Amino acid sequence: MRYDVLIIGGGPAGNYLANLLAGEMRVGVIERKGSFGGKACTGVIGAKNYKRLALPEEAVLNELRGAVFYSRIQSFEISRSSAQAYVIDRKGLERGLAERAIEKGADYYLGATFQGFKNGRAVVQHVGERLEIEAGYYVGADGVNSTVAKAIEARTEAEFLSGYELEVMGEFRPDFAEVWVNKDINDVFFSWVVPLNERVARVGTLGSLRSFRKFLRVRMLKPTSALEFKTGSVGLGWRKPWVRGNVALLGDAALQIKPTTAGGIVFGAFCANALAEAILNGRLGDYEKLCKVIKKQISFGLKFRRAFLGMNQEDIERVFEVLGSREAIEVIESQAEFDDHLKTAKAILKRPKLLARLIKISPSIVRYLV
Ligand SMILES: Cc1cc2nc3c(=O)[nH]c(=O)nc-3n(C[C@H](O)[C@H](O)[C@H](O)COP(=O)(O)OP(=O)(O)OC[C@H]3O[C@@H](n4cnc5c(N)ncnc54)[C@H](O)[C@@H]3O)c2cc1C
Repeated sequence: MRYDVLIIGGGPAGNYLANLLAGEMRVGVIERKGSFGGKACTGVIGAKNYKRLALPEEAVLNELRGAVFYSRIQSFEISRSSAQAYVIDRKGLERGLAERAIEKGADYYLGATFQGFKNGRAVVQHVGERLEIEAGYYVGADGVNSTVAKAIEARTEAEFLSGYELEVMGEFRPDFAEVWVNKDINDVFFSWVVPLNERVARVGTLGSLRSFRKFLRVRMLKPTSALEFKTGSVGLGWRKPWVRGNVALLGDAALQIKPTTAGGIVFGAFCANALAEAILNGRLGDYEKLCKVIKKQISFGLKFRRAFLGMNQEDIERVFEVLGSREAIEVIESQAEFDDHLKTAKAILKRPKLLARLIKISPSIVRYLV
């Protein structure tokens, strides 16, 4: 069995890449699970990029046009008149992309687990039989605990966080997400409420189960009104290299994820575009260079994260006072981009009054970010 490209992992990143390459090359995708979806994921994706990347419209469950940010004692609201982000069905997204790739000629092997490389071939356990698949290029899109990354001995410098999420019933504002930044509840990450409609929301956090339970209590949501509970993990940092020989890493396997929010679907899709270009040009070595913009975003996100971890709740309250001011809200509402946090931070720091107030709170935070 031989393919031009063998993609290991049929999640959003792998399926998006299959969709870009199928029809141009012979593409095989191997996926460990017997069906798509199932991963813990809130499924929030910036609306602009969702359209730009032509992701499947049928996977969209809800549209968000704003968010309310809560600290221990304050809150402020950012809102726009049109949808800024979509809440999607993961299974629908992955399946929709796979359907397109199959229609263009890609071969999918479900229930197929990549085990390692032997004599330049991928060894795959596929529903009771052992396959050896040869390919011109291999792509590890097999998630944060990537077996492909281990096989090519990629080095990881990252912080790993467990994620907890409930789909829970309650009363929600259907077009607004909630972002809770309160270190008394969770000192390593924010907690979120993302509505699917007025009655059901995805509620979650990264960190410990204890902080998740505490958040549910503070937000007065009943764990016994849950419709779904999922756990997962994210890696915030670097895994290098992204290319070794004829093997490339993509998506969470390469830790292409925003350290600010742990959103990874858009970064994975942007890098899939870069990877497709490098493969189609026969220049795999260009892949990392073509992902320059994403690398810059990750680098910024890691600095932001370090600054966040260095703050106590009193610092956060003071940052909330600045961000909740009329001037800051106006900047955020007119210039912020859902997937470009670097642009948003620059827009805020360009305003002398806001910059001066932030420097007063913590010079080191501003130094980190500039
Ligand atoms: C609680 C939580 C909430 C999140 N919320 C969001 C959000 O709102 N928006 C967002 O953009 N991101 C979110 N993320 C991150 C997002 O889920 C990931 O960035 C995204 O799933 C990465 O896609 P991927 O295709 O790279 O990897 P994955 O989705 O992990 O897919 C990898 C695939 O590879 C398969 N696989 C693994 N090992 C093998 C093997 N050996 N052989 C064959 N197949 C294999 C897996 O079964 C899986 O299908 C969240 C993450 C968590 C934990």
